[in-house]
Amino acid sequence: MLQKKIIKILTDAGYKLTRQRRIIIEVLLKNRRPLTALELYNQAKHRLPAISHDTLYRNLEVLSFLKVVSRINARGGDLFELEKHHHHHFTCLQCGEVKCLDGCPIGPGQLAEARRQGLEVVYHKFELSGYCNKCKPAERM
Ligand SMILES: [Zn+2]
Ligand SMILES: [Zn+2]
Ligand SMILES: [Zn+2]
Repeated sequence: MLQKKIIKILTDAGYKLTRQRRIIIEVLLKNRRPLTALELYNQAKHRLPAISHDTLYRNLEVLSFLKVVSRINARGGDLFELEKHHHHHFTCLQCGEVKCLDGCPIGPGQLAEARRQGLEVVYHKFELSGYCNKCKPAERM
């Protein structure tokens, strides 16, 4: 998601792109993988030593609410990433690592079927799990 687009989402909803929010977005942009709130806090603190846990969480809530940031439920605590494009996640059953997987299995077929039944779909959840590279059973021996 482009900075400009993010600024527009914020201003349209009556929020400002404060320094804290900009830093959170930049940290997420730089990492290219979902981060825990603690990782996010530690990296943001480098850039803005005065940032507190509370401020960070409050801003994360705002950014999640505006769908600039998406929150992923993971075993070790929630992970955060920029909502660049719609995609799903793989979770390792052994170590809990979460990887982004591009693409979405929900197609026009399911949506048409839902409509046919008079359902209005606003959200869906799809998750893959198994073993990551480090935890594949063959490599555990
Ligand atoms: Zn693993
Ligand atoms: Zn992701
Ligand atoms: Zn999907």
